[in-house]
Amino acid sequence: GADTPVAVALNGDDLPREIGLSRVPGRPQATFTHDGQITKSAIRAITLAALGPRSREILWDIGGGSGSVAVEWALAGGRSWTVEPRENRQRNIEANIRAFGMDNQVTLCPGAAPEALDDLPEPDAVFVGGGGSQALFRDLWARLPTGVRVVANAVTLETEALLFDLQDRHGGKLQRLEIAEAAPLGRMRGWQAARPVTQWQVTR
Ligand code: SAH
Repeated sequence: GADTPVAVALNGDDLPREIGLSRVPGRPQATFTHDGQITKSAIRAITLAALGPRSREILWDIGGGSGSVAVEWALAGGRSWTVEPRENRQRNIEANIRAFGMDNQVTLCPGAAPEALDDLPEPDAVFVGGGGSQALFRDLWARLPTGVRVVANAVTLETEALLFDLQDRHGGKLQRLEIAEAAPLGRMRGWQAARPVTQWQVTR
């Protein structure tokens, strides 16, 4: 019940219930400081699975927003560099790095891609969650070595059209992610659809 101390609550096997963070990505949005620009948790879980973090690997998180993708990559045992041009979001990213104790694993890179990528260590994976343009992908293809895993999410038609073209030229997998959540509809409930996300994943 509500007055049971969490630390001594028992599950069916009489083992202490775990407290704290979930072990897997897709942690709730409320876990992060954000201004609404945050990859929704179900989409984030699919995105982290597509990025496929291995211990000690390096991620470039382009379009950091809240830094949630960079933080979840780090929680999986890697290191990440998150690139974000807007100052208010840089503050959110710093707050999240601090709140998760990730100062040694996540680095905020203030600025815009591709310019802000120049001093970063070579990545194992790159996530494009913002700032996706023809110029950015052309730049990435020139600077990334082969073998780097690239995942890009698009919510606008313009960015989606870019991903169609990129898959045509480079192959990889294109997925459309559509999530709906039950919400009040008058005195009943109905599906409230989130904007569909088009996701392209490819190995450079
Ligand atoms: N994945 C993030 C949300 C990304 S929203 C999260 O889960 O929190 C997209 C972000 O891309 C915005 O914050 C926007 O400021 C940023 N952005 C736009 N153009 C950019 C560029 N050229 N380089 C880096 N970030 C950019």
